[in-house]
Amino acid sequence: MDLPDNVTRLCGRKRFSFGCHPKLSCFTECCRELELALTPYDVLRLLQELQMSSSLFIERFVVVEQDENDVWPRLYLGMVDDGRASCPFISASGCRVYDNRPGACRAYPVGRGGMLDANGNVREIHVLVHEEHCKGFAESQDHTAAEWFVNQGLIEYNIINDEVLGLLQHEKVCEGFRLTQEQRDAFFVALYKLDEFRTMASSAAFQDKYLLNKKEREAVLGNDLSLLRFGVRWLKEILFTEKV
Ligand code: SF4
Ligand code: SF4
Repeated sequence: MDLPDNVTRLCGRKRFSFGCHPKLSCFTECCRELELALTPYDVLRLLQELQMSSSLFIERFVVVEQDENDVWPRLYLGMVDDGRASCPFISASGCRVYDNRPGACRAYPVGRGGMLDANGNVREIHVLVHEEHCKGFAESQDHTAAEWFVNQGLIEYNIINDEVLGLLQHEKVCEGFRLTQEQRDAFFVALYKLDEFRTMASSAAFQDKYLLNKKEREAVLGNDLSLLRFGVRWLKEILFTEKV
């Protein structure tokens, strides 16, 4: 695998030294000039933090990209036009959404990639990303990737991201599947606009077709995470087994 010069594989239980705290001279320097991809679970957590509607959040904070060769739209956190391309959530005292910051912010300096194997299980690889400005590598605490993920509250993020991977890397995608506009709208609603998806899933017509079990219906409609998980299953059904 070819990696950029500042990226190294982090195999197995290999340990790395890293620490991050406000007393470092680089504090918040990492929160600028980012291509910060947002997963559906990142957006769920940011919406809980910011208490705003999904459409307003996307309008204010998200850049959507989809090249002609991309199967799926990609969502990024838009940086602020302040001459330093800063994250909209940075302040002098640190991250304003720290408790619900995106998974990539939690994971740094570790990057996690996932691939579905032939049995549908996720095979993950880890890398270590050395940014020149980052002084954290000189700190004495050492960790494995697994320890770092626990330490940074990433376990739930990784579990949900892997469930989404089952959609994004579905075998039909390898066979040339492409979204229609209607399917693209459904993708956004089920993964990134849970408030609108909840309204949609509350209708009698939708429930008659997709939410047959009363217990499941209550669980799905009463909890954002359950709703997102249901959204992933629902998308697989409507995209790969029926027409919307
Ligand atoms: S140590 Fe690295 S991650 Fe922490 S504030 Fe400095 S640049 Fe950012
Ligand atoms: S969300 Fe927080 S941690 Fe992530 S880049 Fe923005 S300010 Fe930094």
